[in-house]
Amino acid sequence: MLAAAVALGHPRRAWVVALAAVLLELALHRAGHATLDGPSLGLRLAVVLASAALHFTLTRTEVARVRAHARSMLDDERQRQRDSARSLRLGAAASQPGARPRSTDDARNRGSLEEIHASLVGLLNLTRRMMHLRTCALLWVDAKAQNLRLVEAATDDAIQTELIPAGAGALGAVMQLGRPVALAALRPDYAGLPYYPTPSGVRCFAGVPVIDDDAVRGVLAADRDDDRPFTPEEQATLESVALQARRLINNERVFTRLERIKNDMTALFEASRSLGEALTEDQCLAALTNAARAIVPHDLLVFTAYDPNAERHRVRHVAGEAPAGLAATEFADNGGLVSAAVRARVALPYRGQLDPKTQFVFTKALALKSVASVLVLPLVARDKSLGTLTLCAQRKNAFPDAIRQLLGVLASHASVTLANAASVRRLEEMATTDPMTGHLNKRALETEFEQRLRSAARFGRTLGLIVLDIDKFKTVNDTYGHAFGDVVIKGLGAVLTRCRRETDVIARFGGEEFVLVCEQTDAAGTFLLAERIREELQREVFHSEHGAVKVTCSLGVSAFPGDGDTRGVLFERADQALYAAKHNGRNQTRSASPIDPSADAARRPAARRAPKAAPAKVAKSA
Ligand code: GH3
Ligand code: MG
Ligand code: MG
Repeated sequence: MLAAAVALGHPRRAWVVALAAVLLELALHRAGHATLDGPSLGLRLAVVLASAALHFTLTRTEVARVRAHARSMLDDERQRQRDSARSLRLGAAASQPGARPRSTDDARNRGSLEEIHASLVGLLNLTRRMMHLRTCALLWVDAKAQNLRLVEAATDDAIQTELIPAGAGALGAVMQLGRPVALAALRPDYAGLPYYPTPSGVRCFAGVPVIDDDAVRGVLAADRDDDRPFTPEEQATLESVALQARRLINNERVFTRLERIKNDMTALFEASRSLGEALTEDQCLAALTNAARAIVPHDLLVFTAYDPNAERHRVRHVAGEAPAGLAATEFADNGGLVSAAVRARVALPYRGQLDPKTQFVFTKALALKSVASVLVLPLVARDKSLGTLTLCAQRKNAFPDAIRQLLGVLASHASVTLANAASVRRLEEMATTDPMTGHLNKRALETEFEQRLRSAARFGRTLGLIVLDIDKFKTVNDTYGHAFGDVVIKGLGAVLTRCRRETDVIARFGGEEFVLVCEQTDAAGTFLLAERIREELQREVFHSEHGAVKVTCSLGVSAFPGDGDTRGVLFERADQALYAAKHNGRNQTRSASPIDPSADAARRPAARRAPKAAPAKVAKSA
């Protein structure tokens, strides 16, 4: 107990306890012995005192060591916090949301910003040393002028890194008056210097406002422990220092702005490069998606295509967290932001904030949950509305003016690329498609047939060819008119679409003559399909001004490898079979080679409709 009291208690109390222990020892000795035994009593007392002194020394040393260690850890942590707050400030200023400078650039940027920062630190340290200050601190006001925040301080004290109310204490007086304030003979408990977390005991203070564009932007605070008040000359010096600090901060701002512009330019350059390389609409949308992601973080990106003839919008591309059903949404012009942006050809909504009570983006039914920021950019090229690029984010103010402008540039570039890709697609379609039926034209079929023939030869597969021609079509034209003839040709095109399988290729060869190429189908299977087409057309009723009209067709069939192994030979054999069908009375199918009926069931093509009864006509050889 003595050891504990001596080691852990207050020194004065420890000595009282030790003295009490000595007296107790004396009392015990007196009670135990009739006479005083000097040497043995001295020894006992010496042991008691030595033990107390030893514990005192050891425990105090240990406590001091632990305290010193804790203090050093605390100091390190404080310094680390300060450093990270500083680099956060510098880093935040340098980085544009979403922009990703390359690592070498990043390092260079940091280096340049650190240099500006080091100049500021140097300036404050120099001022502190020259004026024998305890602290020289620069504080900056926030955008709403409500709080001051420490920018940098030259001091040995722990300085307040939290926000300080802009009206507080002596700093508040400098802010409000907008001119230097000097205080002297401060009380030790003076708490009007809020950059110290607790009263600091400083005796004198001088604060000068940092003025920029006729507004007070911050305060340069100086204080010292001795009683020398700040002279007018010293205050004038502090004003010069404040001016210099403002210049440095402005330099940092200019540098940051330049850095942001450079990052924006880089993002736009990258976007325009990948948009330039995009040949198809899909590639263009992928480039647009990547570019938008590089410019601003967002949760959802949607491209809607607009059809001006039908006045309808269609969600064509979605990236991100989309609500269910959005990808397949199609909607008419409505009061939504997408519709309005297409009509007005301006970015909506104003300032990018969505008001879910009064606004919707696509349709009323499609709720965009927890979306706070929206930007709908109209895509317009050559005075035609193509649709919109819509970005949504859950956070507020995700699309500030600078970002909106940047995305606007991106959108107009993408619009031109999208329009070009659509033109290329239309040209390609025109070059390969028959406009009346939507099937391939003769040239495209020849290329397609050649490719499929080559792959059939390589993989040892069969390939069927059907050539068909409407019977007595001249009479149809002559009797009902050319326009009605066109209706019949389109009708046959539709019959072929119904009868085809996914892998079959259909082409209008010219006039009322069509061709089908059937992959992995032998002569028997091809014949069966041809018969199905013939029967289907026979059932079709066309309505002319003079009443119902029915037409028939004749078909010729050949197959690889049995009937030949080149395009020319296979066409020739199918043509010969067609000629035979015509010659033999029309409305029938002829095959280039005799069909083996036993192979029929096994090789029946997978038609869309349920298989019908065996064809009425018997397979015949041409
Ligand atoms: P066949 O049974 O021998 O085939 O007799 P056909 O009268 O059908 O003779 P052919 O196949 O030679 O006649 C083709 C006719 O189709 C000639 C042409 O006037 C007509 N024609 C060609 N292209 C078109 C077209 O695009 N529209 C219309 N309406 N008629 C076309
Ligand atoms: Mg004909
Ligand atoms: Mg013909």
